[in-house]
Amino acid sequence: MEFETRSIHTGQVPDPSTGATIPPVYLTTTFTQKAPGEHLGYDYSRSGNPTRNGLEEVLASLEGGEAAAAFASGLAAESAVFQSLRPGDGIVASHDLYGGTFRLLDKVFRPWGLEVAFPESAAPEAYQRAFAQLKRPRLLWLETPTNPLLDVLDIAALAALGKRHGALVAVDNTFATPYLQRPIELGADFAVHSTTKYLGGHSDVVSGAVVARTAELLEPIRFLQNAQGAVPGPLECYLLQRGIKTLAVRMDRHSDNAGQLAVALAGDGGVKKVLYPGLASHPEHEIAKRQMRRFGGMVSIELEGGEAAARRFCSRLRVFACAESLGGVESLACHPASMTHASIPPDIREARGITGGLVRLSVGIENVNDLIADVRQALAG
Ligand SMILES: *Cc1c(COP(=O)(O)O)cnc(C)c1O
Repeated sequence: MEFETRSIHTGQVPDPSTGATIPPVYLTTTFTQKAPGEHLGYDYSRSGNPTRNGLEEVLASLEGGEAAAAFASGLAAESAVFQSLRPGDGIVASHDLYGGTFRLLDKVFRPWGLEVAFPESAAPEAYQRAFAQLKRPRLLWLETPTNPLLDVLDIAALAALGKRHGALVAVDNTFATPYLQRPIELGADFAVHSTTKYLGGHSDVVSGAVVARTAELLEPIRFLQNAQGAVPGPLECYLLQRGIKTLAVRMDRHSDNAGQLAVALAGDGGVKKVLYPGLASHPEHEIAKRQMRRFGGMVSIELEGGEAAARRFCSRLRVFACAESLGGVESLACHPASMTHASIPPDIREARGITGGLVRLSVGIENVNDLIADVRQALAG
């Protein structure tokens, strides 16, 4: 079955005891056993819950993996991947990253004993040099399109590089979602998500997931999911599965709106740079065309007037809310330097291009004319 059909039907079996078309939400911590150890496959909800299982099944199917594990947040999902390594192992991590991922690697997993190398740019040679710095490379962690600069990495080429160094390859697929990009089909071992964003899609649930190419690759992650217990509750799993049913139509509209807004912004005098993989002017536009179905709903802009102009712009917006996070049906604007990426030291941030004048837009699915009018009036102020 095709993607849209699986989004709606996979992991959604009508309830056999009542016929309820939408399976009930299993709000239970425990499962009654006939005799000690004699049960129907479930014993305790940290270890397994039918609502969570349904969600994991649809996530695995949409990413083209064999198995998935759901977590209480995107960072909990990432932690499980990092913790499945051993102290002394090495990670090459994307040159541009979600701020919380950078903090997790730098402040938690470096002290824990992982060696982490960051390439200095998106160039494949920079990734090659980063591998050469590691004593025992075990993981290549990619994020594409990157947050907040929307650089695009060539997943197939970098996955091949990772394999040559004996590393597992994980891709944070939060920005693209499996509707637009499927890393496992391009050679990755794991697709990792903050499902808080587009998969949930309605800004009302924090959660994460790891999807693995094979069930065997998921085993250590599944072990940590239960042993450490950072699991999402049944209500979160239900909300996510409900959001996923409209993923394809939402991503098409997000992509339409973002594409039109990017073109409108590119012609505005107050805007120095528009970063959007769908623009022919984007340095990795050709790679994006090859590995993505469409270009997604995230657009970043750098304003001529620097930090002061960016702050003024964010507070003048009326349809866009000035808020962290992304991927919901409503449009949001954020100032990465003082909000989502404030945890990156200023010198590293500036060197990476996350300047004071940068604003990241999560373009929602409102009418695009209202969105264009809103950014125009905010720029004019
Ligand atoms: C939000 C985000 C995360 C972290 O996810 P949480 O659900 O907030 O823990 C990781 N990666 C990317 C790209 C994100 O946007």
